[in-house]
Parts: sequence; C-alpha cells; structure tokens
Amino acid sequence: MPLQSLNPLTGKVTKQFDEFTPEQTAEAVRAVAQGYASWKNTDFAHRAECLLSLAEVLKARADEFAAIMAEEMGKPVSFGRAEVLKCAGVCEFYAKNGEAMLTPEPVAGCGQEAYVDFAPMGTVLAVMPWNFPFWQVLRVAAPSLMAGNTVVLKHASNVPQCALAIESAFRESAFPDNVFRTLLIGARQVESVLDADSVIGVSLTGSEGAGSKVAAAAGARLKKCVMELGGSDPFVVLADADIDKAAKVGAMSRCANAGQTCIAAKRFIVADAVYDDFLAALGREMDALKMGDPMDKDTVVGPMSSTGLRAELQRQVERCAAEGGRIVKGGVLPEGEGAFYPLTIIADAPFDAEVCREEFFGPVALVFRAKDEEQAVAMANDTPFGLGGSVWTGDGAHGLELARRIEAGEVVVNGLVRSDPLMPFGGIRRSGFGRELSAFGIREFVNIKSVIRD
Ligand code: NAP
Repeated sequence: MPLQSLNPLTGKVTKQFDEFTPEQTAEAVRAVAQGYASWKNTDFAHRAECLLSLAEVLKARADEFAAIMAEEMGKPVSFGRAEVLKCAGVCEFYAKNGEAMLTPEPVAGCGQEAYVDFAPMGTVLAVMPWNFPFWQVLRVAAPSLMAGNTVVLKHASNVPQCALAIESAFRESAFPDNVFRTLLIGARQVESVLDADSVIGVSLTGSEGAGSKVAAAAGARLKKCVMELGGSDPFVVLADADIDKAAKVGAMSRCANAGQTCIAAKRFIVADAVYDDFLAALGREMDALKMGDPMDKDTVVGPMSSTGLRAELQRQVERCAAEGGRIVKGGVLPEGEGAFYPLTIIADAPFDAEVCREEFFGPVALVFRAKDEEQAVAMANDTPFGLGGSVWTGDGAHGLELARRIEAGEVVVNGLVRSDPLMPFGGIRRSGFGRELSAFGIREFVNIKSVIRD
C-alpha cells in the first residue's frame, strides 16, 4: 500500500510514496544502529550544538512546514507555524538543560564512592500520530538524542510529507547522518523494527488500540515503552469562576486543531449556579472562532483530518443525542467540500452513558451539570482516562487543593492544559504510562546505572 497525502480540504490525493520494503526498513534500522555506535560517545556540548542548529533550521523553515501540515492534515497555518517554533523551543530546552539532567548523581554511604549514571542505550522507535505531526516527533527526538540515543520514526501513514520534512531538517542541521531516520512504513512493519536488537524501546503517541498492540509487542520482546494515549479531560467550572475567561479558554481548548487534541477539554463539568451562563458564554466563544481554509492565516479551525474520522465523530454525536443529549449548537454535517465539522455543544447527556465515556476526537463539547463541588470532582474522576484536566475558580489556593484530588497526569487551575518542556507530560489509566518532557522524559530511555567503588 502506498502512503498517501490526502488534502482534507479538497479530498484529493496530492502525493503518494511507496512504503519501504522490509529490506529497506531493516537497512535503515541497521544504519541508525551504526550511527549510534559513534553518537553515544559524543559529549553533551556537541549534542547541544546539533540540537541548536536543528532549532535554527526549524525556525527558518517554519512557514514551509506549516503549509505541509495544512495540506496533509488540515491544521491552520498560524497554528502550524507556532507548532514548528515550539519544536525549535524543545530542542533549545534540552540543549541548555539536558546535561544537568543526566549528570551523574553522587550517593553518600555506599562503598567508598558511588554515583548514579544515566547512560544511552541504543535506538528509540517513535511511533507517532498525525495530529501534532511535528511536535510529537520532536518531543521524543530532542531528549533521546541529547541522551546519546538514536531515533527511528514511524509516522502516521497520512503524513508522509511531514515525516520526510522532519528528516530533511535533520539532514540540513549539524546532526551527523543516521542518528535520526524516517521509516516510510505502515503499522504492519512496526513489530519487525522492534525485533532489531539495536532498538531498545518504543515511544508511541496515539490511540488506545494502537497503544495496547504496540505495548504488547514491546512486552513480548522485553523492551521498554512509553505510551501517550487518548484522553477525555474534565474542565471543571466552579460557581466562583471567571465565566467569561473560562468560556474563552474552554472554547479554544475544545476546538483548536479541529478538536483533534489529546489534552483538549472534552467534558465540561459546570456548577449548577453558573451552568446556564457558562453554556451561553461557551456558545458565543465558539461562534467567534473562524473556520475555513487552513492556508488562510486568519483561520482558527480548519477541516478535520479526514472524512472518515468526521463520520466516526458524527456517529458519536448521534448516539449521544439518542441517549438524551441536547444538541445546543452544531451537530449537523455540512454539505460541500472539505472534512469540516461544525463546532458543537451537547448539554445534559446522561453522564454514565457509554458514549459519554468515550473520547470525542473533534470539536464537540459535552457539558454536564454538577450539583456541588464534591459531585464535580467525582465526575471529573469518573472516566477510563487520566491525561489532563482543569479547574476554574476565583480562589486559586482552593483550586490547587482540588487539583490534587483530580486523577490525571496534569491539572491546571484557571488555564489551558498544555505541554511545556519544563513539566512532565503523560497520563494514567487508559491514557497511558511513562512521561515525556522535563527531566522525567529524558530519563525514560537511559540506563539508570549504579556505579560503586568499594
Ligand atoms: P493511531 O491510529 O493510534 O495512530 C498512531 C500511530 O500508531 C500511527 O503511526 C499508526 O500508524 C500507528 N499504529 C496504529 N495501529 C498500530 C498497530 N496495530 N501497530 C503498530 N502501529 C500502529 O492514532 P491517531 O488517530 O493517529 O491519533 C489519535 C489518538 O492519539 C487520539 O486518541 C489522541 O488522543 C491520541 N493522542 C495522544 C497524545 C498524548 O500525548 N497522550 C497526543 C496526541 C494524540 P498508521 O497511521 O500507519 O496506522
């Protein structure tokens, strides 16, 4: 099967690429294993220099890369540009801070001298999704390379041009050949890559289905994995919250990237006292978001990445309405070209209906009423997922107390749930395990080694 770029605005295939044969895949993995043999012996200063030069290439080519994302998966160019600049930022972050995170840590009281070392281990396989096609990749690659590992990328099959563009940025930078390579392969070849002795683990960002299969494959080979999977983040609005601000951030969180964001606010849990006000404000804020051609720099919401995913979302909306959910706005598929989905609010659906426990991967906000704070926290935690969440309240200190009670990898008080290189990122329960970013992320694929002198 060829890998295709299909423009979700026009429905037309714009480019296609032959998938690597198993021999080509094995050859590329072997070349990266050879690259590792010298890369692991480089010093931190050299790795930092390479990362800084990659950051410069990313910045210089941000507009070009944003246009590729717009064409392949519908991301508006202003957001694509911001994504590429964020990638440059994570390279700079690890260039500056990576060495300190991996400097051997002395331990007193064991033998005459002892320390914990953080040694590179080999090649990390990155299995990545299309929704943040640059950010997800650089978020794995930058710390892995700073740690002295090498990386092979298996990107989502619908973004082969993004995958090749990222590889070309590496080639243009100061990185030597064969420390980062793109494998143009479908899901079927992932296991054979994991078979290679040089591949020491896999970091997957994607759906639960893909996560459980790849985690099982890694487990069967006794290789480590990090799983960044789906979410259904709660957005808890208390009675004393700044409703206008909450609605503004909530609308953007739910609708940016056409709602195809793992850490988007998906379940809005609103205190009874402000429920009607918040519902109205959320609707107004969603109406203000400009939907249109992703190549237009003023567009905020582009088409979804494919009509297939849009149809799946529509089925969820219909199931939700059949269960008693009230469609306050949107919910009807538009006529005409482009995989656009109307910005949609569904209120008062039964909280425990099966469909309400699923992830809605598109611009559909589910809004639920909570009689009090206790019930709001219970509802926030009553989910199979645990990626992110937010709490909105006029009392910041109380917000932090509630944040401790919400079971998720990240909780933000009065702000947007986001990934920041300074903070660990990842989930619990069906949202996955392991962490990316910060010192926790760079230590996922290193040998944490005890060295003792008696
Ligand atoms: P997906 O279908 O799971 O694909 C993700 C990657 O996994 C792709 O490269 C895909 O390859 C590969 N894959 C799928 N099935 C596989 C299998 N059986 N064996 C090996 N590889 C396999 O996910 P998606 O639709 O691209 O992304 C949406 C999901 O990702 C959502 O659930 C979203 O919440 C989640 N996500 C999570 C995070 C996070 O950080 N936690 C971030 C972004 C997205 P092919 O394309 O070739 O099938």
